[in-house]
Amino acid sequence: MEIRFQQANAGNYLSAARGKEQISYLVIHFTANDGDTAKNNVDYFTNSNISTSAHYFVDEKEVWQSVREADIAWHCGTKGTYFHPYCRNANSIGIELCSCIKNGKYYFQPGTVENAVQLVRMLMQKYDIAPDHVVRHYDVTHKNCPAPFVENAAAWQDFKRRLTEEVDDMTADEVKNLIAQSKTVYNTVASVPEWGRATVEKLEQKGWLKGEGGSAGLNLPEEMLRVLVINDRAGIYGD
Ligand SMILES: [Zn+2]
Repeated sequence: MEIRFQQANAGNYLSAARGKEQISYLVIHFTANDGDTAKNNVDYFTNSNISTSAHYFVDEKEVWQSVREADIAWHCGTKGTYFHPYCRNANSIGIELCSCIKNGKYYFQPGTVENAVQLVRMLMQKYDIAPDHVVRHYDVTHKNCPAPFVENAAAWQDFKRRLTEEVDDMTADEVKNLIAQSKTVYNTVASVPEWGRATVEKLEQKGWLKGEGGSAGLNLPEEMLRVLVINDRAGIYGD
């Protein structure tokens, strides 16, 4: 996905040089505007000195970045009570979704949600962030933000589901094709490369991965192993 960058006014964020290990939450917001664009927002944060910011702005066509990930954006702080024990500006990335209003209610265009899913999935992978560390501004301070995901809990659950869905939604045929196309097949745990061995051992222990018996052994294609490892990193198989 292509991301355009336009730096926010220096008064809107904290230059921080955070390391990868210091970024452990992704916080979802909405702009509370009606039909704005990601570019509108980065322009605003470039031209205004207002001590607030977010790293990313998403609309149905584009993603714009306004604060570098290593810098701290001011998007979920409060002088009041924190309702999340750990998530703060200092350890999170703030993502704003452009919104629309209909009959006095805020909503997101489907394309905006789709672009946000892609962006969040990319950041989850980049920073090794588990799905339960993707939170709403509401979860941090109880602000009604992002309203479409606070007022409609099912929409938020659907968003969360889509952060890990790809593998779950593969059809049996797609799985078969994946197997047919792959060249390397592992038949014993010992033959599984280092990067996938812990996952295979876990699945065997839980009884979820079984050999086909006889000489076939595990019969685990490399492409399938990659999928299992991605799922494992996403926390799907537990500890
Ligand atoms: Zn917010």
